[in-house]
Amino acid sequence: MGISHITRQTSIPLFRVIWEKQTYMNMLYLLASFPLGLTYFMFLVPGITAGLVTLVIWIGVFILVFMRISWWQMAAFERYLAMHWLHVTIPAMSYPSSVQMTLWQRLQAQVKNSMTWKTLAFVLLKFPISTFFFIITVVLLVLSVAVMAVSLIIGLLSAPFFTLILTFQRAPNAGERLQQYLLFAATGCGLGPSTLHLFNYLALVDGQLARVMLGMSDTALRLEEAEALSAQERARAELAEQRRKQLVVNVSHELRAPVASISGHLESLLMITEEGTTAPPPATLYNYLRIAHQEVERLAMLVDDLLSLARMEAGELRLNVRAIAAQEALEEVYRVLSPLALRERQVTLVRGANPKLPPVLADQQRLVQILLNLVRNAITSTPAGGIVSLTLEPADGQHLALIVADNGIGIPAEDLKHIFERFYRVDTARSRTSGGFGLGLAIVHDLVTAMGGTIKVESTEGQGSRFCVLLRIAKPN
Ligand code: ADP
Repeated sequence: MGISHITRQTSIPLFRVIWEKQTYMNMLYLLASFPLGLTYFMFLVPGITAGLVTLVIWIGVFILVFMRISWWQMAAFERYLAMHWLHVTIPAMSYPSSVQMTLWQRLQAQVKNSMTWKTLAFVLLKFPISTFFFIITVVLLVLSVAVMAVSLIIGLLSAPFFTLILTFQRAPNAGERLQQYLLFAATGCGLGPSTLHLFNYLALVDGQLARVMLGMSDTALRLEEAEALSAQERARAELAEQRRKQLVVNVSHELRAPVASISGHLESLLMITEEGTTAPPPATLYNYLRIAHQEVERLAMLVDDLLSLARMEAGELRLNVRAIAAQEALEEVYRVLSPLALRERQVTLVRGANPKLPPVLADQQRLVQILLNLVRNAITSTPAGGIVSLTLEPADGQHLALIVADNGIGIPAEDLKHIFERFYRVDTARSRTSGGFGLGLAIVHDLVTAMGGTIKVESTEGQGSRFCVLLRIAKPN
């Protein structure tokens, strides 16, 4: 529609303009523009002047900022009116920026933005232009209504009466006089629609002005788009750099404990097996070697986890996401962990899944990795005699839910929101020496997200936890 709509309005036949709704919307717009323009002018001119005068004592800055907000809102309202009343298509006034800026940076950007000055010019010019259009509109309206009324009364209603008298008086110019009356009546009737056409032209000018002044030009839009993109990239690079630094700090920190332990035990071993000393009992030797071995295994685990995360971050982790039966992954994890849970921690692992559930979109191998991580965590967090359950059930029309629940120690409320962060552990003291490195759930989170799923956790300290992985149901072709 847009401008073409108004153009169509102005090129419609002479009389059809009378019953076109748009004609009256245009007239309303022209009439409403005058009080609006006057209000903007009366508010902005003293406000901006006061802001400029008091600029030296800083209050001016606040006044000018307030004025900028005000005229921007006025321009937004004008854009709305032009779009909804005149049906003009106007591009956006600004490009949404996803980059966080300080107040000062935002202020600078606004000063440099051409839209700031275009909108100010529009709201200030609105007053003289609308006054001019308002006067034309009112004068023409009054004139055409008056002429129409007079022509109708004199021309149409009284013409037959006069003609009768003239005919009766046998006046020689009776026919001529009748023609004059009718011409006058026709002029009156034609003036009304012509005035309406003129209003449409005035509204067309107003609409064009609003389109040029209240919307960004194509070039500005493209420029802003490019700037926003580059700012986004910059922010992403800064964040990546920050995360990389944090990772180096965390990894060094994590390496310290196992390396110190290995070094300490090997040193002791060297000392007690030094030539000349009496050989240590095999049990002591075994104990030292076992601890060193355990620590090396933990280090290998950390390296594996870090590699997984690095691959995911670099986008090198190729996931084979396809329609798979999640029940199979669930069964595999149950088969591997249920005897271990019972034997080593006296925890019972139960599972439940309806075999008729639809396939989901996931990478089979990675799904097993996710479940292994969640179930292992649940088993280690559940005291002897506890239960860990692994179930698959429909969540909503589009997802299946894989739920790992336990009645173990639970997670304190203040830790819950950090649980998927890298290197975050609930009981730092306990896990630094024996448990993992706080990377398991971060990996699980990234893997689930990469498969297009989501993961949620609910937990109550002392009662247990419930991890729920939502996976998309594969649509049949
Ligand atoms: P880790 O490899 O150290 O276990 P995770 O990222 O897997 O690290 O887990 C992060 C923290 O969440 C750990 O400190 C762990 O104790 C806690 N946690 C994970 N699952 C559970 C659970 N089911 N119940 C209680 N605590 C849990």
